[in-house]
Amino acid sequence: MIQFANTRHTSSSEDTERPGDEIERLGDEIARLAAHIHAATYRLLVLIREFDEREGWGGGFRSCAHWLGWRTGIAPGPSREKVRVAKALAGLPLISGAMERGALSFSKARALTRVATAENEEALLELSEHGTAAHIEKIVRAWRRVDRQEDAEAERERHESRYVNLHVDEDGMYVLRGRLDPEVGELLEKALAAAADALYRKSEDGADAAVAPTAEQRRADALGLIAERALAAKSDEDGRPVGRAERYQVVLHVEANTGASVLESSGIGVPAGTSRRLSCDASLVVMTHDEDGSVLDVGRKRRTVPPPIRRALDHRDGGCRFPGCGLTYTDAHHIRHWAEGGETKLGNLLLVCATHHRALHEDGFTVELDGTGRPQFRRPDGRPLPAVPRAPRLGKDPVADLEREHRSRGVAPGPHTTTPLWLGEPLDLGLAIDLLRV
Ligand SMILES: [Zn+2]
Ligand SMILES: [Zn+2]
Repeated sequence: MIQFANTRHTSSSEDTERPGDEIERLGDEIARLAAHIHAATYRLLVLIREFDEREGWGGGFRSCAHWLGWRTGIAPGPSREKVRVAKALAGLPLISGAMERGALSFSKARALTRVATAENEEALLELSEHGTAAHIEKIVRAWRRVDRQEDAEAERERHESRYVNLHVDEDGMYVLRGRLDPEVGELLEKALAAAADALYRKSEDGADAAVAPTAEQRRADALGLIAERALAAKSDEDGRPVGRAERYQVVLHVEANTGASVLESSGIGVPAGTSRRLSCDASLVVMTHDEDGSVLDVGRKRRTVPPPIRRALDHRDGGCRFPGCGLTYTDAHHIRHWAEGGETKLGNLLLVCATHHRALHEDGFTVELDGTGRPQFRRPDGRPLPAVPRAPRLGKDPVADLEREHRSRGVAPGPHTTTPLWLGEPLDLGLAIDLLRV
């Protein structure tokens, strides 16, 4: 309940009221409500963390932040920050407690969680109780600079020296030399071991290998397998496809009768869904063969989206049309695939990013245009995925409801719950950093 609104009517009848009291109460009410919002934000973060841990966003969404933006209307940057802070708070009981009581704003929590550890959170929290959000931002930035400067120089020099060199020697063999960042090197080592395992488990089981390859030879073969897999892989960690047609000029051979598809570069067969995605935007060469292998059709030119249509599409869609996505690096998806007679015209095309293009062809998502030409996406189980989700139903006075709920949880902030103990003295950045670094 907004107390200020109530007390204002009675204030004129009280003789003891001094000028300025009313505005004072207004300020108190703002501070008290802000504290409730801090406490509510903490609960929001806890729920987001649980949702993320249980991967509630999985299936269609690129990340928890992407889902959060879609579901709640929070902008992408702040959505990512919410998820980051939610995760960080899991290991920070003191900062969490302060926020839960309504004593710490999200602004401060956001800054503190950039540097806070279980060891320093007590000192950081004390500092934050004495400063404004702007102070904390400044201190955290300065601290990270100090920390970074020490390590950064050495790290930068090492990182600068990385390289990989590949050249062909007089025998026609490729010679590989390089120097890698430690994390990349470790990754490569693991990948080589895994690929060598995969390659040689079979022949060992068969026990008919005439000459057993040496460890070095196995690694060389393993590297080939890694490269092959990288080019044939559907996607990398971020869901972007590796080996995109534009960059590697992938040739896809499709057998007309069976629809079986093979990538020319790797000779690896691709599943039907993948084949349809790769040929959907048709920026790669699609060769259709009959049974005896003769080429029936080379599909590149006919199915490429012509530049004027592509421009019109960019203008109309502006980016991926999947609910809440909007990425601007996109494929032109044929709503009705050209193999089924779908035309390469504006009314049959839709921009989608690589992840969501895959969702449509390989993960069972569907899209069609409604009567007004708006895309309607559906989940694999057929449930619609609206562009804008339905807003939650709130009571007549959501703030009163929030305060009641807080009371039931023992959270009862007052007008000074979030007031810093700062008295206006100038910020001694050096001293603050020194205090934190001991
Ligand atoms: Zn497509
Ligand atoms: Zn997308």
